[in-house]
Amino acid sequence: MAIGGDRLTFANGGAFMQDTRREVEQYLARGRTRLKGSLLLFAKVPVAIGLTIASWAVLIFVQPGVAGALFCLAGLVLGALLTAFCVQHDANHGAYFRRRRYNHLLGWTADALLGFSSYAWRVKHNVAHHTYTNVDGYDADITQVPFARLMPVQEPRPWYRLQHYYIWFLYCLMALRWQTVGDVAAFARGTIGNSALRVPRGWDLAGLVGGKVIFVSWAIVVPLLVYPWWGVVVAYLVYSMVVSLIMAVTFQLAHCVEEADFTSAEQLAAERRLWAVHEVETTVDFCPRNPVLSWVVGGLNYQIEHHLFPRVPHTHYAHIAKIVQRNAEQHGVRYVTQRSLRAALGSHFRHLRTMGRMGVPVALEMG
Ligand SMILES: [Zn+2]
Repeated sequence: MAIGGDRLTFANGGAFMQDTRREVEQYLARGRTRLKGSLLLFAKVPVAIGLTIASWAVLIFVQPGVAGALFCLAGLVLGALLTAFCVQHDANHGAYFRRRRYNHLLGWTADALLGFSSYAWRVKHNVAHHTYTNVDGYDADITQVPFARLMPVQEPRPWYRLQHYYIWFLYCLMALRWQTVGDVAAFARGTIGNSALRVPRGWDLAGLVGGKVIFVSWAIVVPLLVYPWWGVVVAYLVYSMVVSLIMAVTFQLAHCVEEADFTSAEQLAAERRLWAVHEVETTVDFCPRNPVLSWVVGGLNYQIEHHLFPRVPHTHYAHIAKIVQRNAEQHGVRYVTQRSLRAALGSHFRHLRTMGRMGVPVALEMG
């Protein structure tokens, strides 16, 4: 059996994944493990959505002074991050409920509260990124040409020499792009990476349009009724850029680092890899012993486990990581964990610098 589309496939199964899956299923079947994990997951929903609504309501109805407004803005940022990492991400992967419809409904928080289409996210993230992780042209997260070069097989350009400095600004703009033209452009193109994106119909279309209307209403229109336009513009830009930067960096630290593997469709066609091995070797965990960070980023510091078991609630990843690591060592699969956030950020920075310099003519390199 193979995973992937007609043009690019991976081999499924393999002893590493079979042993790992068996142990993970045994762990989840033990006592009330599943129930506890689900309760911890569901407990995050009222925190994320409640924090967002409370912060917004104080800003609009109480209209506190500058210090109070900044405090509320910080609440909106944290609420958005929790919604992005702990609610919509798990829901759009199908980790909250057994029924797809309920997962999509909770995943719609991406449309209403974050301003980007959950329908497009499921193709961009679940298909393009999760199936073709770190494959040039297929994984939209790692294909950012001509703005940045994130892997060796991509063509060098002179401006990439500075990408380790300017990319942080691009990360800040990512959410703004998806909130404005990103979704529409993807629907017009009909693809994300090399994955087909069909224009939504029926309830999916209603969710897309309704979500945009709700997001623009609470984030722009209602604030304009009580604050001067320049205040709304500045607050919106700060909110969107901070959320965007933290989201982008969190996802990039798992895949766009020195220790991760990168590949092209040609290389994969020549050597048909086991999908599970490909996922582990293109992904890196970070800060495994930081429960606060794990809670806030929704287990995205355990991305190896997330890529192998995306439908398992992230509240189980800390335990599953021990199973995956032990099996990886037994089966000779490269499993990398960054001890600290600083180490992970340093590796991302150095990877960007190396990719920017690689293949640039010597005169430029020395200049
Ligand atoms: Zn995911």
